[in-house]
Amino acid sequence: MEYTDAPTQTQEVSWDTKQCPYCGTTLPKNATSCTNCDWTLEATKPAEPKASDAMAILLSIIPGLGHIYKGHRVMGAFILFLITPTAIFFAILAAIASAGWGILMLIPYWGAVMLHVWAVKDLVPPTPDTGEQY
Ligand SMILES: [Zn+2]
Repeated sequence: MEYTDAPTQTQEVSWDTKQCPYCGTTLPKNATSCTNCDWTLEATKPAEPKASDAMAILLSIIPGLGHIYKGHRVMGAFILFLITPTAIFFAILAAIASAGWGILMLIPYWGAVMLHVWAVKDLVPPTPDTGEQY
């Protein structure tokens, strides 16, 4: 059996090249666009999380505002003017009855509102880019 240290052809090809995710063309590893199709590095970057989600959660410091921000005006107003005052009312009652500890009831409530505003569908239509349609 003869030992050979000649590098295999396939390894050498894949060492500093990559394949275009669209058409499979072999490209240099640092290529940012394809020579054969319109693929660019930008096109396959993972979509960034929508800013509106983070903003909605931030606004939910005041429960309901985040929902209004995301376009759920009725639900937001409902949370802001009805559910939150009720929750605070009962938390204060519980706090009086439990030497203050009852106020902690509001923490899971806030958490639930923030979780919900994150999960809820964004009803605000995406801003038109240039208005070319008009
Ligand atoms: Zn390509």
